[in-house]
Amino acid sequence: MRIYADNAATTKMSKAAINAMLPYFDEIYGNPSSLHSDGQRAAEALFGARERIAKCIGCSAKEITFTSGGSEADNQAIVSAARAGERKNKKHIISTAIEHHAVLHTLESLEKQGFEITLLPVSGDGFVTAEQVKAVIRPDTCLVTVMYANNEIGTVQPIEEIGRVCRESGVLFHTDAVQAAGHLKIDVEKQNIDMLSLSAHKFHGPKGIGVLYSKKGIRLENIIYGGGQERGKRAGTENIPAVMGMAAALEDACAKIDENSVKISALRDRLIDGLSKIPHSVLNGSSENRLPGNVNFCFEGIEGESLLLLLDDKGISASSGSACTSGSLDPSHVLLALGRPHEIAHGSLRLSLGDENTADEVDYIIKATAEVVDYLRKMSPVWSDLEAGKRDFIIK
Ligand SMILES: *Cc1c(COP(=O)(O)O)cnc(C)c1O
Repeated sequence: MRIYADNAATTKMSKAAINAMLPYFDEIYGNPSSLHSDGQRAAEALFGARERIAKCIGCSAKEITFTSGGSEADNQAIVSAARAGERKNKKHIISTAIEHHAVLHTLESLEKQGFEITLLPVSGDGFVTAEQVKAVIRPDTCLVTVMYANNEIGTVQPIEEIGRVCRESGVLFHTDAVQAAGHLKIDVEKQNIDMLSLSAHKFHGPKGIGVLYSKKGIRLENIIYGGGQERGKRAGTENIPAVMGMAAALEDACAKIDENSVKISALRDRLIDGLSKIPHSVLNGSSENRLPGNVNFCFEGIEGESLLLLLDDKGISASSGSACTSGSLDPSHVLLALGRPHEIAHGSLRLSLGDENTADEVDYIIKATAEVVDYLRKMSPVWSDLEAGKRDFIIK
């Protein structure tokens, strides 16, 4: 038996999404730029999918640009705002310390090009406030980019208020909504969002396809040059099967947001309750304003990698920090930003649940984790020192 509890890294494709893709491999396979009828059938499908996706986030089809995923959408949004800013001599960008690397590394590259980046700190449970953003906006600020929901600790930021502050100051607002899309409601108008990134494989769609929403009037900058696809803003023959899969997956996920949110957060809370009973453990993030499926814990004296491998042996797929950083031995930048010391930030366990998980699976995860933590601690010299009182517990 396998239990998949790594839905923040990627999700299993839904049957609906797979079925929506199939005809576009061998029936309607034309290039939408071709003038013949095979091409035009593909172009019509693309047009329809764009409208359906736009509807799910409350924008118009013309404001949707298809990208190769969340990372590309983040890159293009930030680079576009930066270039527009540069033309007006505005070279200051505001973001947070807990963004995904697709945002942070793009900002680092802009910093090398002379931009000034302010990374806002987060509270101990992982939140930024609109007041914090307001306090650092300057006349030369060209962009605020704050993620909707965090991929490691699941904290959901006050996006609408941050958007309002940006609007009032005339500063562009981008949000990486990759973890939110299909899981939390999105309405770009109501939430004052100028640009937004999403990625299909985080809501049961295919990998390698995403969306950059950009409000009418915003000039996007190419990061891929070539043909005139996507209104000339993103070259390359459109990945129609993936777009069709994404449209089906997003519609499906959005139709089930309320139902899934109730179901999955109940499982999440059951898991949090169970894991909290392990001595010297702590929940990262907050019990309020948390993604329905996200659970993230640190256990004193436990190293993330060994925990993961032993859980894998017991049939559980989990993660430590983000998928992109696991495999490296760097501590999570998100946990460090929460103020967790290095030795603790190394040892986190992220379990991200989806609508296919069950209460029985959650109970099994709790039991297996308690056993593995106990086993690892018994072998650990650090743990014997802690128990002998030779050093102090960090997690009480
Ligand atoms: C997964 C993820 C991304 C990257 O999306 P890809 O489609 O895998 O490139 C960006 N931001 C967040 C918050 C994510 O969780």
